[in-house]
Amino acid sequence: MNDMSMGALNDVAPAQNTEGQATEAKAPIVSATHNVETVLWVKHWTDQYFSFGITRPASFRFRSGEFVMIGLPGEAKEDGTQGKPILRAYSIASPSYAEELEFFSIKVADGPLTSRLQKIQPGDQILMAKKPVGTLVLDALLPGKRLFLLGTGTGLAPWLSVARDPDVYDAFEKVIVAHCVREVRDLAYREMFEHDLPNDELFGELAREQLSYLPTVTREPFTRQGRITDLIQSGRLFADAGLSQIKFDPAEDRIMLCGSMAMIKDVAHMLEAQGLKEGSNSEPGDFVLERAFVG
Ligand code: NAP
Repeated sequence: MNDMSMGALNDVAPAQNTEGQATEAKAPIVSATHNVETVLWVKHWTDQYFSFGITRPASFRFRSGEFVMIGLPGEAKEDGTQGKPILRAYSIASPSYAEELEFFSIKVADGPLTSRLQKIQPGDQILMAKKPVGTLVLDALLPGKRLFLLGTGTGLAPWLSVARDPDVYDAFEKVIVAHCVREVRDLAYREMFEHDLPNDELFGELAREQLSYLPTVTREPFTRQGRITDLIQSGRLFADAGLSQIKFDPAEDRIMLCGSMAMIKDVAHMLEAQGLKEGSNSEPGDFVLERAFVG
């Protein structure tokens, strides 16, 4: 999934910050093959997770839930040549109508990209592919009544997009977001789901009536504990969403999975055992999956 087919990136002139003052040693990025976007804000949730927003080119269209390759130019080598750019797939966390593009990332200390990306500041530039892709989209699912968005860690990112898209609430009566993390502090965006969305002037009514947010923690005490697989097996996933069912109904339930490979595999097996079929853009089905991308 790595896109290393970048054209040459050239240093051109000294960088300027948003006020037009010269900044230290950051030359503008130039790319023949990728969009060059400006970082608008950065939020560090913990020493493991951060989010950031970048400018959105007017020509960049995407469907809520899609991902795009983003990254940084290669670092200069000792011999003066430029290293290869490093790009990774990131789910777009903003909904398709948003003016800016938001991303939710893990920080990997020795990760080739995130070790550098976690240091970005407003005004910095990053590379972004011209086209988004992905299967965590409504188009890859058959019509249904309830949409379960199940994610671990940064696998929440596509749900931040999908669950903030009004079209999703037209398509489904109920939208259930389950976010499973190790520790309570890892529950990034909890405040947004529990406070901001239900109180939002435009979105509030939809969120209050149709959206259930179910955070769950596995490695310390919390009001809801256990892996998503445990919550499915015990029926708590359904009960906590106010549903009377105790398992998935292939006729009415649609599921999207994103996060750790192990979780995706385990839940996909459970879904198949309950009679649900995986879908794709070309052949919509009952559930879709994509691993959360770590770099
Ligand atoms: P992760 O290790 O995959 O864990 C995320 C959540 O998914 C955990 O609650 C985990 O439960 C659960 N999970 C794992 N395998 C599962 C399966 N087969 N079925 C259902 N649920 C499953 O991902 P992450 O937390 O994003 O971490 C990625 C890396 O970042 C880690 O290797 C770690 O080094 C680092 N990290 C550390 C912390 C921390 O120390 N607080 C926080 C975030 C990230 P279990 O706890 O039961 O495994």
